[in-house]
Amino acid sequence: MLNIINNCVPSVQTEEVELTSETVNRDSERVGPDCFELLTVLGKGAYGKVFQVRKVQGAQTGKIFAMKVLKKAKIVCNAKDTAHTRAEREILETVRHPFIVDLLYAFQTGGKLYLILECLSGGELFMQLEKEGIFMEDTAIFYLGEITLALGHLHSNGIIYRDLKPENIMLSNQGHIKLTDFGLCKESIHDGSVTHTFCGTIEYMAPEILTRLGHNRAVDWWSLGALMYDMMTGSPPFTGENKKKTIDRILKCKLNLPPYLTIDARDLIKRYLLKKSPTQRLGSGKADCADIQKHPFFKHIQWDDLLNKRLEPPYKPQLHSEEDVSQFDTRFTRQTPVDSPDDTTLSHSAELAFAGFTYVAPSVLESLKEGFSFEPKARTMRRHNSSPGTPISPQFSSAGPFKASMDGEPDFSPPPTAPLPIKAPSRNKKQKGHRR
Ligand code: ATP
Ligand code: MG
Repeated sequence: MLNIINNCVPSVQTEEVELTSETVNRDSERVGPDCFELLTVLGKGAYGKVFQVRKVQGAQTGKIFAMKVLKKAKIVCNAKDTAHTRAEREILETVRHPFIVDLLYAFQTGGKLYLILECLSGGELFMQLEKEGIFMEDTAIFYLGEITLALGHLHSNGIIYRDLKPENIMLSNQGHIKLTDFGLCKESIHDGSVTHTFCGTIEYMAPEILTRLGHNRAVDWWSLGALMYDMMTGSPPFTGENKKKTIDRILKCKLNLPPYLTIDARDLIKRYLLKKSPTQRLGSGKADCADIQKHPFFKHIQWDDLLNKRLEPPYKPQLHSEEDVSQFDTRFTRQTPVDSPDDTTLSHSAELAFAGFTYVAPSVLESLKEGFSFEPKARTMRRHNSSPGTPISPQFSSAGPFKASMDGEPDFSPPPTAPLPIKAPSRNKKQKGHRR
């Protein structure tokens, strides 16, 4: 809280004005759907759409953002989904990191929840991977390094990402990694039904998530291994004609590595990340990401430079303006952007689930403060139609305690055989099916 003393006129009595998200919202920044002009549809989520929008009122007028809209009625059908949606909002409030999407505002109407996020004009990393087929090792090292730092930061805040896969990894307009999508709604949307259905892509999920035997942050390092394999070979490590076969292969099949991978890449994937037993996986020890950072695959990375964005990204998105949506799928961008008004009134108990959703980022409050003019006002609090931020609880209930299982220093001595480098195959376009 910031106390401002209004004492410019000596004869006038001194008054304190509290500058908090609630008072700023109340007087200068009542953020709602009307503050944003819809420009383009960028994507579709399980509960609604993501639009590119321009702010047309208040602070940051004229700036471009991404607006993720979620329909409350769809979310409240399942208690777990409500929790995940709240988790997404709370995590984004808690977490600030160069490689994780920034949340600027959150608000709600009767029927919908809105997240205003920084607009990641570079699109999904998946699009880039599609174009290239596979990434050269230097490119993979850069992206995997930034992702490792982002995951390490989440873990240090007690958060397990659990859903690392190409379509949740986006690129900023400069070409840096940004993790998005903290809803995790794709896991067990149908929990409670006879079969546990995993919606969405499962190719990158760790065996212990699929068997539901309890998991910890080591699941993210498995997914990093699966992603690394995909980036460097053109497809995820275990795939099948259907979900059941894919799950079977993840749980039981031996990993095959193409011979053209370098010794360091093979070593990191096979000996350390794609270990079916989480306790043997690199990163599962106390040091978490630090153990992964030390692996020879990353030997040329100056981690401090990477974190501070001093390394040149492998691809700089070709963008002509702030509104450029050329990096997004035309299936979405060609649609007419419509956010139908929805002022449905939910039952009192259902509505309670969304209390505390409203949020204004500290960075926005800072920018408001700079141009903030105020007249002396009484300190009575007017009720806002949605309540202010709740205390933050970033820990997922299902996350489980972190287990330290590899306490010793990992041994990175090379594997027994050194493969001969040969030309890598190009990505099979049909494999796109695995991702969507
Ligand atoms: P959920 O499981 O919560 O429904 P989802 O996967 O359906 O999540 P998101 O991944 O958050 O939803 O968003 C859907 C798509 O919208 C993304 O794949 C991406 O193309 C686009 N998108 C999401 N966030 C942004 C952003 N900040 N900037 C630009 N585009 C975005
Ligand atoms: Mg997603």
